[in-house]
Amino acid sequence: MLSSDTLEIKFAMQAVRLAAGLVQDVQAKLVHAAMTKEDRSPVTVADYASQALVAYLLSQAFPNDPLIGEEDASALRLATATPTLEQVNRFVGRLIPGASASSVCDWIDRGSASPAERFWTLDPIDGTKGFLRGDQYAVALALVIQGQVQLGILGCPNLSEASQPEMGGEGSLVVAARGQGAWTTSLASPAKLKRLAVSKRSDPAQARLLRSFEAGHTNVNKVDEFARALGVQAEPLRMDSQAKYALLASGRGDLLLRLLSPSKPDYREKIWDQAAGSLVVEEAGGQISDLHGKALDFSAGRTLARNRGILASNGRLHSPALLALSAIRA
Ligand code: AMP
Ligand code: MG
Repeated sequence: MLSSDTLEIKFAMQAVRLAAGLVQDVQAKLVHAAMTKEDRSPVTVADYASQALVAYLLSQAFPNDPLIGEEDASALRLATATPTLEQVNRFVGRLIPGASASSVCDWIDRGSASPAERFWTLDPIDGTKGFLRGDQYAVALALVIQGQVQLGILGCPNLSEASQPEMGGEGSLVVAARGQGAWTTSLASPAKLKRLAVSKRSDPAQARLLRSFEAGHTNVNKVDEFARALGVQAEPLRMDSQAKYALLASGRGDLLLRLLSPSKPDYREKIWDQAAGSLVVEEAGGQISDLHGKALDFSAGRTLARNRGILASNGRLHSPALLALSAIRA
């Protein structure tokens, strides 16, 4: 049983819950009005506010631990960004009394640390397009020690039981600790943790592929080619963010691929996009590697510079999927 009373797990669960609540608050107040104008500013406000909050909480709980977050405050410090900074400060100030524009920027910039022997990595909103569309998104936080993810937490406000899309429901908090399993509980009102386990599916024809909603984040034609090479017949599930890893961990999906998009062949995965989700999959009994079957190396900086793409599976389908990938030369 996962002991949620280690300081790290307690801190990380609380930080992700508070950050998820904060971004839901921003969404409720700002997104609807902005959608009609194709305005991305709400996600900008929510992204910055979420990182400021988690960085502040980390500085209180583990003052010496570095943070590597997706955002930095350089654009926010420009005079032209003053209205945005005021909004960020207003949302953060509801949770941290005494927050100011300058302290908010300083907290965000705590996320610009370099990887160390022990560090945390944060995606303040993973799946920004999903956030704006009213679909799936996640707050993702992980603790990395000696290049290995030890703790991974996902807060998915629009996912129930780590498996079912549900807008405006309780949401899912997903927690994985190395050697202690992957677990889920309600994000809105955490209660008993429920253990997650990947599917036992081994027939590729029945495999449910978890795909990005956004075509630009992968190579759509190659993913289709992969599905044909493996003999997949089941309909894929399409969604944004690391919520896909929760679906894999709960057995709702069986395979997840991140191929390189043709427009960015040199793209390397960001550590905050993979760290928490990768441990959730492994601790639920699944497997994750790059497209060549190589273990993910979280000691290479802000990206997985020594890996190419991602393959995650329920374990049983990993070898057949790697064979299909080599057959299509992905
Ligand atoms: P998804 O929600 O699965 O489509 O993935 C969202 C993540 O894709 C974002 O967090 C981005 O960091 C990442 N991303 C953005 N551009 C690319 C790209 N060209 N190739 C791969 N991933 C990308
Ligand atoms: Mg992301």
